[in-house]
Amino acid sequence: TDPLLAVRDLRVRFDGDDGTVRAVDGVDFDVAPGETVCLVGESGSGKTVACESITRLIPTGSAEISGEVRFDGTDLTALSESALESYRGGRIGHVFQNPQDALDPVYTVGAQVVEAIRIHRDRSKSAARAEAIGLLDRVGIGDAAARFDDYPHQFSGGMKQRAVVAMALACDPDLLIADEPTTALDVTIQRQVLDLLADLQAEREMALLFVTHDLGVVAEIADRVVVMYAGNVMESGDVYDVFEAPAHPYTRALLACLPGRGERFETIGGSMADPTDPPDGCRFHPRCPHALPECEEGDQPAFRAVAAGDGGADGGKSGSVEHRASCVLYDDAHALPPALEVADD
Ligand code: SF4
Repeated sequence: TDPLLAVRDLRVRFDGDDGTVRAVDGVDFDVAPGETVCLVGESGSGKTVACESITRLIPTGSAEISGEVRFDGTDLTALSESALESYRGGRIGHVFQNPQDALDPVYTVGAQVVEAIRIHRDRSKSAARAEAIGLLDRVGIGDAAARFDDYPHQFSGGMKQRAVVAMALACDPDLLIADEPTTALDVTIQRQVLDLLADLQAEREMALLFVTHDLGVVAEIADRVVVMYAGNVMESGDVYDVFEAPAHPYTRALLACLPGRGERFETIGGSMADPTDPPDGCRFHPRCPHALPECEEGDQPAFRAVAAGDGGADGGKSGSVEHRASCVLYDDAHALPPALEVADD
């Protein structure tokens, strides 16, 4: 299947107070139709900026974006602002971390869902109202018709985020981009919103690009996982392959931090690379327990296949996804060192 979204050599740079910030530094990944892809990494890894660049939510006046973002065959980076508008909230929906930012406090929740429908679709007010009530009901707003005229401040945090999901679904998107959509919510509500998104993804057969720092969430919902560090993709593959046989030392370190995974529960030593002055060579080398002298020179290692990627015994949820990593240990010249062959999980 051709990917619905194909991101190639995406680079995003800003002018910061301390110099040019290389927030995203040559990122490649795909999202297949109907697939759930999780972009995962620590804060500062560039995952949010990478997502926001897909529909240019970052003003180009403040950022320089290069590379290719092909959505259903169209390179979105080549589109004018007005042409891109038809994708935002249309075929590509967004849900952000803080529902407060997506809702206007001076309009009722219902009016905002109606607006999200009518901006892209030719609907009468009454037809859009009926659709909006249906959407609010589907996302779990009890007694949706009665709550239609409530203002955002009359909704709890979880209900606000459900309303934002309803707005994102208004035009039946092919791709929903959700950036840490549960992080700002109470723990008990997080689970409900996560379940809602997973149900909607399956029911509508839409692709879901989910940004998170939480590998537990990834294990639960992802078909494919893309691990980012310092603006680069360190590893990607079917979630089964990556969790069963993590190839990149950074992924291994992240997984070792997961409670309940083996005996070890660790934190990764050192801190995230400075995006205004990233280290030469592999961006992870100052923190990598397997670093070789050559890891400190040149560019980020090539992103290459590390295994066939059969998605495990059942072929994986997303079929055959190549398992790839950016690490010199997978160059032809190297055999895996003993430290990596002795799995710690
Ligand atoms: Fe570690 Fe070198 Fe691989 Fe980077 S390239 S992850 S420093 S072994």
